[in-house]
Amino acid sequence: MRIDVVTLVPEAFEPLRGLGVIGRSFAAGRASLHTHNPRDFATDRYRKVDDVPYGGGAGMVLKPEPVFAAFEAIPQLERRTVLLMSPQGQPLRQAHLRHWATSCDQLVLLCGHYEGFDERIRSLADAEVSIGDFVLTGGELPAMTVINGVVRLLPGTVGTAASLDDESHSALLLEHPQYTRPASFRGMEVPQVLRNGHHAVIASWRHAQQLQRTRERRPDLYQRWLEQGGGAEDASAPGECP
Ligand code: SAM
Repeated sequence: MRIDVVTLVPEAFEPLRGLGVIGRSFAAGRASLHTHNPRDFATDRYRKVDDVPYGGGAGMVLKPEPVFAAFEAIPQLERRTVLLMSPQGQPLRQAHLRHWATSCDQLVLLCGHYEGFDERIRSLADAEVSIGDFVLTGGELPAMTVINGVVRLLPGTVGTAASLDDESHSALLLEHPQYTRPASFRGMEVPQVLRNGHHAVIASWRHAQQLQRTRERRPDLYQRWLEQGGGAEDASAPGECP
């Protein structure tokens, strides 16, 4: 998968290349990361990328010309989606990451800054994505969240594919409790059921734990799970690839 990021802070993405399994996936060529700085496309002598908002108000707004120019210089693959990072976007979900990881050859991520984008920049995007109901200073951390979440789903990134199927949010439910050795630690015991080796009994205990955990911690998710008839979430996503 090819990943292109339009950002005023390209250096923020460098640590991703050395980040554990994600970094190894870039090194192995499963994904490639390219950054594009609108400042390099600004044509005035000060390489200005922001300006005051029409109508007045606090802060500065990202100008359309350098962002359009940076975007238009990006080579385009066939199955591409363009995602604009915004607290006004659709809340990011695991099902979206899975869709992009399995259906797209290219992700283009547009990072805002200052008070945000000139509204016309939104026309470049297939969808807007929010990583939560809060506001950060720029789109870099949201974009890195998308990159991390997508790249770890690419075949070969995470050692066992089964661990991706069992984890929280893969089928709406939260993951069951996990333990490792020792069996007893400071008076806290590993449940006996996990130590007796009966696979079917363990599977059924884990499923019951998933249900209980999701019901208690995330009643909204549990309700969605019930509404979907106890199956995985619909794999469609904002900004679907063809
Ligand atoms: N004034 C904008 C608003 O009220 O919608 C917020 C601008 S924010 C300070 C600057 C940039 O950070 C945004 O354009 C966006 O790219 C990014 N950003 C901030 N919070 C975000 C979030 N929760 N999810 C995704 N992107 C976010």
